[in-house]
Amino acid sequence: MSLSQIKDRIAKAETAAGRAPGSVELIAVSKVQPNERVQAVLDEGQRLFGENKVQEAAGKWPDFRAQYDGVQVHLIGPLQTNKARQAMQLFEAIHSLDRPKLAHTLARLAQELGACPDLFVQVNTGEEPQKAGILPTEADDFIAECRGLDLPVRGLMCIPPVDEEPSLHFALLNKIAARNGLDQLSMGMSDDFEKAIAQGATHVRVGSAIFGARDYG
Ligand SMILES: *Cc1c(COP(=O)(O)O)cnc(C)c1O
Repeated sequence: MSLSQIKDRIAKAETAAGRAPGSVELIAVSKVQPNERVQAVLDEGQRLFGENKVQEAAGKWPDFRAQYDGVQVHLIGPLQTNKARQAMQLFEAIHSLDRPKLAHTLARLAQELGACPDLFVQVNTGEEPQKAGILPTEADDFIAECRGLDLPVRGLMCIPPVDEEPSLHFALLNKIAARNGLDQLSMGMSDDFEKAIAQGATHVRVGSAIFGARDYG
């Protein structure tokens, strides 16, 4: 599917949900995609991208930033504390703030660097043991802790369990955000971004529907 088709579907979902046109940002998830495909999407005018590995992003985005104005790259994958400094210098936003140790590291680096990317707290809405994220019952305390550290928490992020109805998870994330006074929601991927928009997503993370299947081979 092309970028313009995805944008059409986002616009229709905004209207269907009674939301303002342009209220949803499309993050084009470019991880693992060959540079030619990323370049083609840049040439079509897309400027906001998502990557899930620090090293991979460091390898390709400095060059693209030099070639195109206004590029923004968000980290959507897990962040190890030993890569936090590099991540803070590479990304405009980090969607995977998922534990106290990382919050303290980011806070210390923010003081030292005098700047911090926008942050999204990742919530493990499905309470899956293998998945990153703060448990829903611990989210309020964690958000308060991050605010106490002066971190710029803008919103919440989730990745629903693959075998459950995602709308329930999107609604839960929306509820946690609302009671904490947060208005940005990073949720929805290629298969479910319209459902996420219906539940209030402000950032949808769409990869394969734009770029085609990822080839890990
Ligand atoms: C890869 C990835 C996406 C995009 O997934 P698609 O199904 O290709 O749209 C979205 N969010 C996260 C966190 C990812 O790692």
